[in-house]
Amino acid sequence: MKLLIDGRNIDSVTGATTNVVNPATGEVVDSVPRGGREDVRMAVDAAEARLSKWFAVAPLDRSRLLSKIAQSVAAKSNELARTLTMEQGKPLNEALGEIGGFVSCIEYYASLAASSRASQLPFLSGEGYSMILKRPIGVVGAIVPWNFPVSLLGWKVAPGLAAGNTFVVKPASTTPLTDLKIVGAMVEAGLPPGVVNVVTGPGSVVGEELISNQKVSKIAFTGETVTGKRIMEGCAKDLKRVTLELGGSDPMIVCDDADIDLAVEGAAHGRFRNCGQACTATKRLFLFESIADDFVRRLKQRVGLIRIGNGLDPKTAMGPIHSEEQRKDIEGMVEDAKARGGKILHGGKRPDGVEYKKGYFYEPTLVSDVDFGARMAKEECFGPALPIFLVKDLDEAIERANDTIYGLGSSVWTRNLETAYHAAEMIQAGTTWVNSPPIGRPEVPFGGVKQSGIGRELGVEGLEAYFETKSVQVYEYGKGKKWQFPVM
Ligand code: NDP
Repeated sequence: MKLLIDGRNIDSVTGATTNVVNPATGEVVDSVPRGGREDVRMAVDAAEARLSKWFAVAPLDRSRLLSKIAQSVAAKSNELARTLTMEQGKPLNEALGEIGGFVSCIEYYASLAASSRASQLPFLSGEGYSMILKRPIGVVGAIVPWNFPVSLLGWKVAPGLAAGNTFVVKPASTTPLTDLKIVGAMVEAGLPPGVVNVVTGPGSVVGEELISNQKVSKIAFTGETVTGKRIMEGCAKDLKRVTLELGGSDPMIVCDDADIDLAVEGAAHGRFRNCGQACTATKRLFLFESIADDFVRRLKQRVGLIRIGNGLDPKTAMGPIHSEEQRKDIEGMVEDAKARGGKILHGGKRPDGVEYKKGYFYEPTLVSDVDFGARMAKEECFGPALPIFLVKDLDEAIERANDTIYGLGSSVWTRNLETAYHAAEMIQAGTTWVNSPPIGRPEVPFGGVKQSGIGRELGVEGLEAYFETKSVQVYEYGKGKKWQFPVM
């Protein structure tokens, strides 16, 4: 595939390319240009040139166009989902769900594009009034990770376009194909050239040029906390706006009055969907001691039913880990937990079988007796391994849950509304799900506290993040001469 700059599919200036590899087979799926700084500058120039014209499109027309884009992407769902599975590794049904989520996100912001309102307020002194205007921020650099390349593209471009901004998108180096196809579909559906451009290439080059380019006014980033810090540091130089959606180590607290069957299913879904590679995946399980034996027995049974395989096989419930590097990281965390006394209840190794040899597969893994100082307890465990901790009550669970630098998602499982409210108040996280695994919804704001991020995506808050507020003070004739400079 090629770069998408100003509506044209072009090679990078140097002509260099990078292969995209299927994590289930190790085979090359396709190749993309290895973009450099000059390519980014061209894309930024195109986005800047288009900015005022895009903002001038009447809100109703912008809304209609976004709706048309949503329909057009939806019509290509099957093909897009297949590409996503082949480059990312997730099962086809999850890939279809992700494309569907993108479409819903565009539809949601299409509705807001036509209905967002500015305001007016009278001066306290009565001399006139002020209009509070909402203006687009400008050219936005959207930097997207590999775990949800499509959803996280949508969370940025949908509100950003609704608010009248233009974009240069940098997909993750290992998952550029579906993003390129989706933006291509958006242009085909009528999005004017230059409004959304895509430059593939390494974060250290393409990403860094977006951060340092003075024509870029905002960076919307999803990825690791370490990278987020680097981005914030780089953006500080020109005071660029940032939205940072970063890592998490989400706790799941199961109380003694929980619906155990529901919670077992929630734990399996929360930890092993997308092979555990979700920012809001369930990364630490806290069980009340009184229900722990029963819960663990049922969870082991449930996890034993998870079928691993190539995501294109409709029977597959869990695909491979996305890369060899990522698999080694998970293996290192599991070994570290074992060395500190952790017990493997399920998995803990690569699956046997010749069909698994070429991909980066790893068994769904449950580890009990994990030391609170273990890497799995302290760091973000971004793969299919779940550490299990026992707690005596809710207070201890909350204290343990909060003992992390992260604060993205969390869940509490109880039949008691008071317990749920208390946990939701006390857990330090951007979201608490009650009796549910993590589910993103376009209408509900999402983001992290502590080192899980800054700002919010989705919801009305996600739209606000793409506006600058401008005040216009209007003085009515004949009123208020108080500011007159003294005459000698
Ligand atoms: P990375 O931070 O490694 O990469 C994310 C993106 O940043 C990629 O496009 C990458 O490019 C780019 N990048 C890397 N270095 C730089 C740089 N110096 N300047 C600019 N851009 C750069 O994260 P992962 O791709 O590994 O994604 C997984 C992480 O994302 C996890 O920590 C996960 O929790 C988090 N995440 C957070 C979410 C949230 O909403 N809070 C949601 C989903 C994931 P390249 O691929 O070329 O290296």
